[in-house]
Amino acid sequence: MLKKTLRITLIVLVVFFTAFFVFVPNLVDRYINRTIHASGPADKNGWYDSIPFIADLHCDALLWNRNLLVRHSFGHVDVPRMQEANVALEVFTVVSKTPIGINYDKNSDKTDMNALLSFAQLRAPQDWFDMKARALHQCEQLHRFADESNGKFRVIANKHELLNYMAERSHDRSLTAGLLGIEGAHCLEGNLNNLDDFYNAGVRYIGLTHFFDNEWGGSAHGEKKGGLTEKGKQLLHRMDSLHIIIDLAHASPATISDIFKVTTGPLLVSHTGVKGTCDGVRNLSDAQIMEIGRRHGLIGIGLWETAVCGTDADATARSIKYVADKIGVDKVAMGSDFDGATHSSYDITGFPVIVKALIKQGFTRPGIEQIMGGNVRDFLLRNLPE
Ligand SMILES: [Zn+2]
Repeated sequence: MLKKTLRITLIVLVVFFTAFFVFVPNLVDRYINRTIHASGPADKNGWYDSIPFIADLHCDALLWNRNLLVRHSFGHVDVPRMQEANVALEVFTVVSKTPIGINYDKNSDKTDMNALLSFAQLRAPQDWFDMKARALHQCEQLHRFADESNGKFRVIANKHELLNYMAERSHDRSLTAGLLGIEGAHCLEGNLNNLDDFYNAGVRYIGLTHFFDNEWGGSAHGEKKGGLTEKGKQLLHRMDSLHIIIDLAHASPATISDIFKVTTGPLLVSHTGVKGTCDGVRNLSDAQIMEIGRRHGLIGIGLWETAVCGTDADATARSIKYVADKIGVDKVAMGSDFDGATHSSYDITGFPVIVKALIKQGFTRPGIEQIMGGNVRDFLLRNLPE
């Protein structure tokens, strides 16, 4: 009798855990990266599909177990949806550690949600404990998608590849591309030499901090929110020598000020909002916007509530207008934070709705073509390695 009960219990447990591992990761992905309403071809205006280069500066799709070559009904980005939305380039960012119970105001580095997520998604056991392995595996995954895409998707790593891609895509709008970035340099595990591994894996921009202070600098959401450390300064010099771009997103105001002081290297803010339209701990002040403009940097505006104080296209368009009025229409871009556990109104097929909202803000077609991707293309052509 006992034996039978044990056997039944065991079977129930096995079924339960199998179901948990098979379904829960997608359930988490579905729930966390949900959209309020989808877009569609009906939202495209007459010239949307002829915008030559649409691009977005930030997407965390590599965090989730999703085959990006297949269209999904959840999450925000995959290659088929990029094709539908005429998107030429998405930056896929590597997230390697986030605190459990993450919040905007203050986080410690004591807990590691990504360890649990790696385990729940049955990633390689090394990923459960090792931030560098987990981050490099995300980079490898993007290259694998490229290898398996029959030429429809590629990873861009230098100017030459970008120019070739632009030439090919002018004849074939079904081509798509990705670029790799890092969100939080804690995946270097404190070792400057690890930067070479990430450069070789294709990483071309790095945000020093994510949701907690680390050995390189202070986060806008950290406990101390301090500035750059001595090691952080060394990292910036090393990044500069490799032509790795600095991303200011999530950095504390003190870190941003220090970065302005110690480097003249290229700067972008991959996904943010601005205090002028939406006050928030990580949103840019007017002084920061002006300095980024003076350095011919690039500011990517997001789609989520705490970035733009709304989740609709109008809120995003208002913040874009604010930046364009301050520093020029050539220095602002889309920085969606798609698949970054954000609730936006749209997935990437909603970009036509952003275009409509930009028209409402008074932008004309040339300016909209710059904002929707021309500025990203030009910035990368200026700043990627040869
Ligand atoms: Zn982020």
